[in-house]
Parts: sequence; structure tokens; C-alpha cells
Amino acid sequence: MDISYHDVLLVGGGGAGLRAAIAVAETNPNLSAAVVSKVYPMRSHTVSAEGGAAGVIRPGDTLDDHAYDTISGGDWLCDQDAVEIFVKEAPEELLRLEHWGCPWSRDSDGRVAVRAFGGMKNMRTWFAADKTGFHLLHTLFQTTFKYKSVTRYDEWFVTRLLVDEGRVQGVVALQLMSGRIQAITAKSVILCTGGCGRVFPFTTNASIKTGDGMALAFQAGVPLKDMEFVQYHPTGLPFTGILITEAARSEGGYLINKDGYRYLQDYNLGTPTPQPVLRNMELGPRDRLSQAFVKEVEKGRTTDTPYGPVVHLDLRRLGEKVINTRLPFVRELCLKYENIDPIKELIPVRPVIHYMMGGVHTDNDGATPLAGLYAAGEVACVSINGANRLGSNSLPELLVFGARAGKAAALAAMEQKPPSERVVSQALDEKLRLEQQFLRKTGGRERIATIRSEMHKAMENGAGIYRNQTSLQKAADKLRELRERFREVSLDDHSLTFNTELLAALEQSFMLDVGSAIVESALHRVESRGAHQRTDFPARDDRNFLAHTLIFNNSDGSTRVKPAPVVITRWPPAERVYGVQSEVKQTAAR
Ligand SMILES: Cc1cc2nc3c(=O)[nH]c(=O)nc-3n(C[C@H](O)[C@H](O)[C@H](O)COP(=O)(O)OP(=O)(O)OC[C@H]3O[C@@H](n4cnc5c(N)ncnc54)[C@H](O)[C@@H]3O)c2cc1C
Repeated sequence: MDISYHDVLLVGGGGAGLRAAIAVAETNPNLSAAVVSKVYPMRSHTVSAEGGAAGVIRPGDTLDDHAYDTISGGDWLCDQDAVEIFVKEAPEELLRLEHWGCPWSRDSDGRVAVRAFGGMKNMRTWFAADKTGFHLLHTLFQTTFKYKSVTRYDEWFVTRLLVDEGRVQGVVALQLMSGRIQAITAKSVILCTGGCGRVFPFTTNASIKTGDGMALAFQAGVPLKDMEFVQYHPTGLPFTGILITEAARSEGGYLINKDGYRYLQDYNLGTPTPQPVLRNMELGPRDRLSQAFVKEVEKGRTTDTPYGPVVHLDLRRLGEKVINTRLPFVRELCLKYENIDPIKELIPVRPVIHYMMGGVHTDNDGATPLAGLYAAGEVACVSINGANRLGSNSLPELLVFGARAGKAAALAAMEQKPPSERVVSQALDEKLRLEQQFLRKTGGRERIATIRSEMHKAMENGAGIYRNQTSLQKAADKLRELRERFREVSLDDHSLTFNTELLAALEQSFMLDVGSAIVESALHRVESRGAHQRTDFPARDDRNFLAHTLIFNNSDGSTRVKPAPVVITRWPPAERVYGVQSEVKQTAAR
């Protein structure tokens, strides 16, 4: 078996992975850094981010305001020390990106333009039209080319972490083009594999977002944190799940029900105003807006379509010029995928799975409890997002914590010995497993597609916007059954060249682990907080549940859950208040 040797290995070539790779090279250009990615880096999901990246830049805005918005938006489950680091370093990172060539949109006076985003008290979201992720990722990607010490493994799929003597020493990876399986060893490994939206049927997430890194860490004994908190974005296009960015509402878009009524006024989100007001109505947080949609369905005030009930986003009042300059991509998506022109027509929208607040348990430098293993970006849970992430916090999060993890992993690698001989035999075992379980096996009774669609149904029905004991238990039982049945999967395609069926099988097995972690964590939290709303326990319960959920994988495949304390520094838990009156009440709450 081939083995390659590096100092720091980055699993993932999205925003977090590339930012971390640059940090490794900046910390010590003599360290060899390798970026392994199952897709060409520019095709990572970061490329599809639209709306922008939050960072305090304007006079009048403060780091404390950004911290407070993030913490109250996260329903007090964020670690406040992490949030304080985040808000301080976010503008520094965004400025660094500017120096590396990111074309931030600007006002006519030349200053970096900012826009409003949901749940934010001040305008602080930097953007590059509505293609922020594309420009951000491109900037990072081209910056990595400056460093000779960064090697890439494009279209290589990581199937397992190599762990010996209590520390991570590399990975086993499959080259998609050739089917070659080999060990890639390293002294530190950073998981930057992104989220897991594909565990659910209706999502904004690219098809590659299957939670691989979460499952890899989980299988290696690392706990996952706060997995019950899955974010629905309130405005996805029906059928495709394509995102219509929050920026459309920050520019002044209204959400209306089938009677043309701005229904958010009925859900403690403020009163209608002609112009958008921060933290009010359409600029409330995503969890509340998605929950309001479900209530509208229950009241029979939504419009039925072949793809489920929808409400409408009304951008017509913005006019052609604003739409074409500030939201060109929104218009393009509507025209291409719905045959609708938002200049003249209403856009049908419904909530759609968008983002994973939970993930691999890390500290503020991205370190996990397993020596040598780090995580950053959406795969990780530091946690700054708590029970509900605010829009536009994720891109700066991957920059801030990608950079911190890169630096910490580089420093740790400088202290480490080369990998042990034993990892080679582990890698050979993994190769054998892949061959026996998939490449040589015939006659299995189960199909991947059947298992995937049953998993989707179980997750949507059991762990959607609203859940309860019965729905979650049913989902947990189903997932257990599917994990058993997965052993009976066999492939039709046994070839080695771009075997996408093999890929689908590996991703499916990761998704079953991640789905179970979501459902088991949700069963454990018998309260409602942020994106986790239980109809059988509708109130927040700070006495018993102001704590993170850590879920561990036992060696027999069962799981165990343990709470971990939330770090509170300066903002004691308070009521979450939105709407035009919120300013007054928030000051009182501090
Ligand atoms: C449509 C959309 C719009 C968004 N808009 C915004 C926004 O405006 N502002 C904001 O702040 N956030 C936004 N978000 C969220 C944000 O974009 C993501 O959370 C963030 O980009 C994730 O970055 P990442 O680097 O962690 O992961 P990704 O960009 O998803 O990259 C993951 C990487 O891991 C690799 N990988 C995964 N598994 C494996 C494996 N097994 N082997 C090898 N490689 C692997 C992939 O190839 C990829 O390179 C949006 C998300 C979506 C879906």
C-alpha cells in the first residue's frame, strides 16, 4: 500500500480547510500541509453562500452588540468566551480577505458596504453582491497557491481516521479517479468537511454535505456536541430547496401568506413597517420565522403546491435596479428554477434544512478531545451558534476558527514524532473492509436508494421543525433498523474508476451515524430552545438544560449522552425579544 507523509492534513477544501491551510503555511512554511477533498476545492459548498459575512466595521456598531445578537440568537447556548473571540477576530479576518483580493461590494463613498441580516441589531454583514461564498472561496483558493508547502489531493475521499497511541496519525483515503486506496499520514489532522444537511430530504445543502467528518470523528470516539440543533432557513424554493438568501429580506422583501398578509406580525416578531427594521418581522431570527411558517400551515393560511405548502416572498416593491444590482443571483435562480421574475412576480418559498449548529466538540482553538485531531467550519461545534445560528455568522466563523485551528495544529505538529508503523496495518484493514463490504460483495438484499429515502422520511417526520418524544423515538428505532439493514447493501458497480455508487454507499453509512446522533441528542433534551422545539416540552428550561449535549459512540454501536457546561461570561440568560420594542427590553436584560 502507498503511504504519503505530511505534517498537517486538512480534510476538506472549502472555506475552513483553505483558511486553515494558509494558517499552517503562515505559522511555519517548512511544514508540509496537505488538503484532501472529495471534490475540487472550488466546488465545496462554501462557494454557494450568497448573503454575506458578519463583522463589526461601522461607527455605532460594537463588538458587544455583535456578541449579544449572537448569544441571544443562539438562545443562550453559545459559549460566550468563544463568541467574544469570534466577534473580535471576524473583522480582522474579513479585512485580511480584502487584502488577499476579495471584491467586497462598496458604497459610493468607497467604504465597504454592509447590509442587515436576521437577528442582528446593526448593519454589519459584508457582502460581494449575492455571491459572497464564491468570491470568498476563490480568494482563499488563489491565496493557497502562494505557498509551495501546500499539497492538494483533489477528488480523494477519506474513509477513516488512523488512530494509534491515543492520537490521530492520518487517514485512509480513496482516489476517486483510480480507486486507489492509501494511507495519508500526518502529525495533526483538521476536519473541515462541512455540514450534514443531506441527512434530511429537503435542503439547501449541496449533495456532498453528508456529515462525513462528524461520522469519522464519532467513530474514532470523539463526542459530537449539540447535534439536536438543526437550522431551517425560512426561504427555500419549493422542489429544489435552492436558497433565496436572507439578503432579499434585508433589502426590503416581505413574507406574505395566501391572503397577502404579512403574517410574522402574529408571532411576536414585531409590527409591519414600510422599510426593513433590524431584528423586526422579516429580519427576525431563522428559527422563529420557520416556526411561524408551520403555524400558518396549521391555520390553513398557506398555498398548496405539488411540493407542499408555501408562503410568498414579495420583492416587487424593490424595483428592477435594486434587484439587478444587489440581488442578481436571486433573480437568476428564480428565473432558471421557477420560471418566475421577482421584479414582477411573487416567489414561492418554504422552510428548508440549511445548517448544522452542532458538530465535532472542539475548544476555541479547534482541538478535539482526541490528541492531534482538530475541527473547524460547519463540521465543528466550538460553540458560537448555540441553539440557532444567525445568518452571516458562518462565513466569518470558518475564517476565524479555521485560522485558529490551522495555527494550533501546526504548532502541535512541530512537537510530534512521525507516525507509528502500526497505522499501516490499520490502513490495510480499512482497505480490506472496503473491498469486502463493497467492491467484491454481491447478492446483498438492500439498495442504497431505499435506505436513503427511508432515512429521509424518518428524519423529516421525526426530527423536523417541531418534534416530540413519540416522533423522535420512532425515528430513532427506524435509524437503528436502517443501520442493521445497511449491512445487507451490495453494489452493482464494482469498477474502480469514478465509482459513484461506492461513494454513495460510504456517504450513506456516514449519514446513518449522523442522523442517529441528531435524533438521540434531541430525545435527551426535554425542553424547547432555539431550533429544537418539542411540542411535549414547549418551554426553555435553564435549570436543567442550560448545557451542551455531548453524544459519544460506544464500541458496540450504541450511544451515550453527557451534558457539558455552557460558558457564560457577561450575558446572563434572558428572554429572547424581537420586534421594534426589542431594543429597550434588551438593554434592561443586560
Ligand atoms: C446555499 C447556502 C448559502 C449560504 N449562505 C451563507 C451566507 O451568506 N453567509 C454565511 O455566513 N453562511 C452561509 N451559508 C453557510 C456556509 O456557507 C457554510 O456553513 C460554510 O461555507 C461551510 O464551510 P466549510 O468549509 O465548513 O465546509 P464546505 O464548504 O462544505 O467544505 C467541505 C469540504 O470537505 C470536503 N469533504 C467532505 N467530506 C469529505 C471526505 N469524506 N473526504 C474528503 N473530503 C471531504 C469537501 O470536498 C469540501 O471540500 C450558506 C450555506 C448554503 C448551503
